Amino acid sequence: MSKYLAVILVLCFIGCNTKEVNTTVKQNRSEKSVIAHRGASGYLPEHTLPAKAMAYAMNVHFIEQDIVLSKDNVAVVIHDIHLETVTDVAKKFPDRNREDGRFYVIDFTFEELKQLNVSERFIPKTDKAVYPTRFPLNKSMFKLHSLQEEIELIQGLNKSTGKNIGIYPEIKAPAFHLEEGKDISKIVLEVLTNYGYKTKDDNCILQCFDAHELKRIRTELESELFLVQLIEFEEEELRLEEFATYADGIGPWIQQIIKGKDENGKWLISDLVSNAHKLNLKVHAYTFRADQLGPFKTFEDLLSVALYEANIDGVFTDFPDKAVNFVNKN
Ligand code: CA
Repeated sequence: MSKYLAVILVLCFIGCNTKEVNTTVKQNRSEKSVIAHRGASGYLPEHTLPAKAMAYAMNVHFIEQDIVLSKDNVAVVIHDIHLETVTDVAKKFPDRNREDGRFYVIDFTFEELKQLNVSERFIPKTDKAVYPTRFPLNKSMFKLHSLQEEIELIQGLNKSTGKNIGIYPEIKAPAFHLEEGKDISKIVLEVLTNYGYKTKDDNCILQCFDAHELKRIRTELESELFLVQLIEFEEEELRLEEFATYADGIGPWIQQIIKGKDENGKWLISDLVSNAHKLNLKVHAYTFRADQLGPFKTFEDLLSVALYEANIDGVFTDFPDKAVNFVNKN
């Protein structure tokens, strides 16, 4: 693995635009931020250490970690509470699914999870890739890893390169974890504290879709971190004032901001961003994919409308190199 990482890093340093981006936390917050969504996931399997190293070498502002707990309470970096869409769990542990047929991260120890091979996201019924033009299925060797291991990679690179790239962890499914008898937020906050991420001055943004839980993180768990409330539904757009009592930003999806075009071909922009800015909330929108453009002709068009017409503050993107180049040019 380390040899492989090294090769990727070398390739990236040669191939990527290494123009300096702003590295202080304050500047990251005041300018347009590029967040590597699950790493450089447009190029390598999501949430693998090589995908994170590649994103790092692309000079992003933040690298994202989705977090789910293992049976033995290790904070694991993976997008879903299930395993079968990105790993070979169904082959390695065929009897370990629940009644619904799914394999849950929380039913496996970290040592067992480490035995799985990770691949590009696929549809288990057909074995077909979700994004067919991306990294091929079942090639090379990728593994799951813990939040600790990823922080050590990013902090290690911060030391060896002199850069200061941030982390952007997401607490996944806190209510599900609670039903399983686990307090995921408490465990994640402990890891973050141990690695020096404690306040808004530290280069870390913590995100969650569950408003009740994010509020609890600020109040009951007394976190002083920069908090982003993820949203996906229209009714949540009416709760900005409530979010502003505990959060520092919101994370809507693009379609909540760009609503299509009017009869003159002009983009229709919702008032979500301006409403959020009035409450001093930053807006980091998801997910910007160069291979899923919707009504946009090019990825640059999409970035341009979102960042400079709608005036959002940051993008979660699977193609961080393209977004960093765009932001540096503009
Ligand atoms: Ca996420």
